[in-house]
Amino acid sequence: MGMDQTTHRFLMNRRRALACGAAGFAGLSLRCSGSWVDSLLSLGSSEAPADVFKGDAPDAALWALWQQRGWIKEASHYLKLDRNVQCKVCPNNCLLAPGDRSHCRNKVNKDGTLYTMVYGNPCTFHVDPVEKKPLFHFLPGSPTFSLATSGCVLRCLNCQNWEISQKKPEETKDPRGPELRFRPPLPSTLTLDEFSRLSLFPDDAVAVAVALRCPSISYTYSEPTAYYEYACDTCKLAREHRLKNIIVTCGSIEDRPLRDLAQFVDAAHVDLKGFNDEIYHRLNSGKLQPILNTLKTYQELGIWFEVINLVVPTYTDDLEMIKRMCGWLVQNLGPDRPLHFSRFNPQHKLDHLPPTPVEILIQAREVARSAGLRYVYLGNVRDVPDAQTTFCPQCHRAVIERDVFSVTRFGLTDGKCSFCGTRIPGVWGSPQAKG
Ligand code: SF4
Repeated sequence: MGMDQTTHRFLMNRRRALACGAAGFAGLSLRCSGSWVDSLLSLGSSEAPADVFKGDAPDAALWALWQQRGWIKEASHYLKLDRNVQCKVCPNNCLLAPGDRSHCRNKVNKDGTLYTMVYGNPCTFHVDPVEKKPLFHFLPGSPTFSLATSGCVLRCLNCQNWEISQKKPEETKDPRGPELRFRPPLPSTLTLDEFSRLSLFPDDAVAVAVALRCPSISYTYSEPTAYYEYACDTCKLAREHRLKNIIVTCGSIEDRPLRDLAQFVDAAHVDLKGFNDEIYHRLNSGKLQPILNTLKTYQELGIWFEVINLVVPTYTDDLEMIKRMCGWLVQNLGPDRPLHFSRFNPQHKLDHLPPTPVEILIQAREVARSAGLRYVYLGNVRDVPDAQTTFCPQCHRAVIERDVFSVTRFGLTDGKCSFCGTRIPGVWGSPQAKG
């Protein structure tokens, strides 16, 4: 995706430049006019750009290797501010002087142009059951080709994938050596050295997903918003090949890029990390409102999505807050939107906390059901027999049973409860029940 109409050159006034903390923007021109200035000002005074890595662009030698490999591509959805740039993909709105690296670590301003460095450059990929995303009402029992690059737009203290999400691209891949593309026919093994120089461009990802008989591609593990251009192009190509696209996201994305991407999205899994802006700031370095906006946009667009809430002791285990969150979900997304409560395990910067008590999760499920949500699941628990069971809201019989990431019993016929005929919301294929 090249520069589009959101990529505009305009000049920024001095007051706004100072308000943005743009110390490195001494050369900025000081005129402003037109709708793009309004657009920038509409960020609002509380929307100051996030911290960025000053002067942290790769050196010339590494940049040349990265370019040679094809992993550098001009970004989309950004503004040119003389020689400085502002990314408009997520609410961080990174303001970058030449040589700066973005908050998500994946983008740099090179001589006045914003580039992504992770195009066709995933640091990991796997075939997962779709239940692992988790998505319980979307093509159950199907495998999904799952990929991720380095980087994330958030800084969650509890991140379970921090070893890739809080890394720069060059800390996860090294382009030295001959080029190697991952595409059919697939090698039976890969050495670490080979993996390190592996490219997986959109056409490769689609060909691999088809070769592995995966009906979908998932953009997951870290945060697709941080590899937006790569995800968008892969989604478009996947759609052309009748593959489904699954976005697993924190939901922190601006409206325009979300709508552009959503044209090619078939399902999403959105992480609602809490229902308190102060906790969002402290736990995730994020903001609540953009996530709520994203949920409402997916709802408006009619794209299938499910919501996950990780219950973190002392941060997001307040049942009153959970009650308010569930009330909002019912009111804005309806009672049929699946909600997954997930159990926290000690990791990253919260390794001093205990795992979430299972009793708290069971209470949270009761709160959610009392609020009116019909499909509430518990994740990362082994000792609650019906934690992952779908119950018919009409006859209350178990219609889909799961064990870890497998469907063990599937009791729907044409998307309806096979006992009473009530329609169960979701996108149902022909699942392979195991067990
Ligand atoms: S996507 Fe990355 S570069 Fe763009 S605003 Fe968000 S954090 Fe900054």
